[in-house]
Amino acid sequence: MSEKEYDVIVIGAGLFGMATAYHLKEKNNELKILVVDKAAMAGAGNTAQSAGMYRDTFSSEVNLLLSSTTRNFFRYVQNTLGVDLSLKDITYLWLMDREQFEQNKTAVEMMLNNNLRIEILEKDDIERKIPELVTNFNDNEDAKLLGLRNIDYAILGLDCGELDADKITRDFYEAEYIKLGGEVLYSTKITKLVLEPEEEKLGIPGEPVGWQKKKVGAIETEKGDLLKAETFFVATGAWANELLLPLGVDSRTMPLKKSLFRIQHTRLAGFLDNEHFNEDKTTPFFIFPMFGIHMRPVKYNNSIWIGGGNVIGKPYVMTDPRDITKKDNPLDNTEADPRKYEYDLYLILSEYLPVLKDLPLTSCWSGYYAMNTMDKNPVVFKPNGIKGLITVTSGSGSGIMKADAVGRIAEALYRDQEYAELFGGVKFKVSRLGITERDVDKEYFII
Ligand SMILES: Cc1cc2nc3c(=O)[nH]c(=O)nc-3n(C[C@H](O)[C@H](O)[C@H](O)COP(=O)(O)OP(=O)(O)OC[C@H]3O[C@@H](n4cnc5c(N)ncnc54)[C@H](O)[C@@H]3O)c2cc1C
Repeated sequence: MSEKEYDVIVIGAGLFGMATAYHLKEKNNELKILVVDKAAMAGAGNTAQSAGMYRDTFSSEVNLLLSSTTRNFFRYVQNTLGVDLSLKDITYLWLMDREQFEQNKTAVEMMLNNNLRIEILEKDDIERKIPELVTNFNDNEDAKLLGLRNIDYAILGLDCGELDADKITRDFYEAEYIKLGGEVLYSTKITKLVLEPEEEKLGIPGEPVGWQKKKVGAIETEKGDLLKAETFFVATGAWANELLLPLGVDSRTMPLKKSLFRIQHTRLAGFLDNEHFNEDKTTPFFIFPMFGIHMRPVKYNNSIWIGGGNVIGKPYVMTDPRDITKKDNPLDNTEADPRKYEYDLYLILSEYLPVLKDLPLTSCWSGYYAMNTMDKNPVVFKPNGIKGLITVTSGSGSGIMKADAVGRIAEALYRDQEYAELFGGVKFKVSRLGITERDVDKEYFII
């Protein structure tokens, strides 16, 4: 059994873990930091399964700050530092019927008051700009059975778009972190956070016992090696509870399986080629008025990625921390069920977009949202009663677009700062993403 010692160990080299490690090293260069991951490289967990989309069209102030400062930082990385992230403002188009539009009016006013660059499109304009889209189902019996909503309005988010999640994780955060002297250890699964008495050991069986102050003093690898540090960050996303629950720490995060379905066909070329929305002359990212079903255009190879759908009745995926060493962890399974597309999403989408009729599914894959069960926002906290432990998780399906802000907030929490400084000098109260003093306002724009 070997032992190694660090100031900080970040467990999990997804985008949250790498952004955290980079900001820690960048602000505190003297620290000896290790990032450890069970995968063979950074960003191979759910970061790799994501659609890589970003937006600022949120109604909650917290989401607005986290996502807009992160996007601005990513733009700076690409445009000023010259790291290609394949970042493009292809725009987001939220399609809605009259009732949904009325319900969202307050949120729209909020976005306008916050100077978000959005436009409201009315039905005629939508039909003119996207002739392939069916907007009215009043005389369609199949559509009535499916409960389809008409399209009367759209909110166009101009500062929203796509980027390559692998590139921001590896080509920027990991590369810069290593340049600053940060260390990485891959293909190493952590099976246990080792709890120790905060003060000296007394030789009592089962130490630390109830009355003793506690800290995480080490982590144990699958091979039985111990890695020691003053502070451990758990940034293991959907897997977070496997390490935290055995210590009695609840991250309020549950894994929810999410699949993406890809259709590639030359028939889509005309639809994907659209001059009305962005410099790339591609159709925007669509959000349909049903169950947050969404569609990412990938113009260069005539394909689209489809995701979303009703989650009622879909179980959270439970993993038992006692099974952490098992090879068949359900959270490692990235297969998707094509029937979810064929009997659910396809029936809805092919009514809105008849160009999809009878096109076969080309491929599909799945990942797991680390879903915060309180308000679907990231969680960054130090659990009460345990020293040396910080949890950074709960991307909740929008972690790419919030990652830089989350990394800065985690770094500020490490230094016990009341406020984190987000990109552009924006101040953010660190406790807002914690558990005990959590202060996250309501979000209406959920996919
Ligand atoms: C299908 C899908 C689509 C998505 N689309 C978007 C999108 O368009 N936009 C957006 O902003 N977000 C999206 N997300 C969410 C986004 O991918 C995440 O929020 C983001 O990548 C942050 O991830 P993370 O670092 O918390 O987790 P991960 O990337 O999963 O990283 C956790 C890491 O921990 C490692 N790990 C786990 N357990 C252990 C252990 N015991 N020992 C060692 N290492 C361990 C894993 O190998 C992994 O690398 C999507 C997610 C999914 C699943």
